[in-house]
Amino acid sequence: MKNKIIELFSVVMVLCIYFSIFSINAFAANAVISGFDLVDSNKHCDYDANQSSYGSYITTAVQKWNNYKAGILRPDTILTIQDVKIIDTNSSNVIWAGKTEYLSARIQLNSYYLNNSSWNYNNRLKTVMHELGHALGLGENNYSLSTNVMKQGKSENTTLTVDDKASYDLAYTYY
Ligand SMILES: [Zn+2]
Repeated sequence: MKNKIIELFSVVMVLCIYFSIFSINAFAANAVISGFDLVDSNKHCDYDANQSSYGSYITTAVQKWNNYKAGILRPDTILTIQDVKIIDTNSSNVIWAGKTEYLSARIQLNSYYLNNSSWNYNNRLKTVMHELGHALGLGENNYSLSTNVMKQGKSENTTLTVDDKASYDLAYTYY
């Protein structure tokens, strides 16, 4: 009888340990924010992409973010104050395909990489989504096994993950 109890106890312990590790890996989201954002006090990020050649990517990327939180990213109008300007650059002497600058309220998209023949549609879309994520206040989220949009580097990650959503939720609390 005593052996049975010990055996049962061991099984329960193993299950507890298994579930605690499993839950950390499978369910706990990794929220990372940058500490800055380009969202105004009305909780809008009004962007001007008139000078960018990646307009269709920007529209799709905006839809993907707004599908999670509606109406935050908006193209600016005559009646709104611009929160971020999106421009193209062509720089071979830098390592980034996209860059968000908080102080100058600007996103630069680097056609040197984006238009490279080794880059596909989703590589470009992910870059635009990633930079818009920075504008929304999200930080680099480089958990190695993840497919986060906010993971650095060239990828085809164009679906918001639990990490991306948790990061957006956290960033939102600072708007
Ligand atoms: Zn980044």
